[in-house]
Amino acid sequence: MSDCLFCRIVNKEAEADIVYEDDEIVAFKDIYPAAPIHLLIIPRKHIDSLIDMKEEDVTLIGKMHLVANKLARNFQIDKKGFRTVINCGRDAGQAVYHIHLHLLGGQSLSNSFAAGRGV
Ligand code: AMP
Ligand code: ZN
Repeated sequence: MSDCLFCRIVNKEAEADIVYEDDEIVAFKDIYPAAPIHLLIIPRKHIDSLIDMKEEDVTLIGKMHLVANKLARNFQIDKKGFRTVINCGRDAGQAVYHIHLHLLGGQSLSNSFAAGRGV
């Protein structure tokens, strides 16, 4: 989708600090980090939101979590712990409608980090 910011990042039409990419997944640093480590893990395929996920997307969504596992190790937050969050829809405060997994860590995370933002 040409009007989707994260599709434009996938297609290298918009800048991002990319930390991981393969044929299905791209991960980059969140531009407004809510924790010392705050990465966004997205599929190259455009899916609006978790609620739009289909049976055919099960492996892809699983791979997003496997990349979170790898990045947690690479960024050395695997031992102390980290949080993953997918905001879905208005009440969750989803701002970008291209499904993304937040990976947060590098400090003790208060409960408000459950929303993926704020201390
Ligand atoms: P959400 O509220 O779950 O939709 O999260 C969207 C996230 O995208 C927020 O944490 C933003 O800080 C982040 N974000 C928005 N624009 C960019 C961008 N150009 N590069 C990196 N992260 C971005
Ligand atoms: Zn998109």
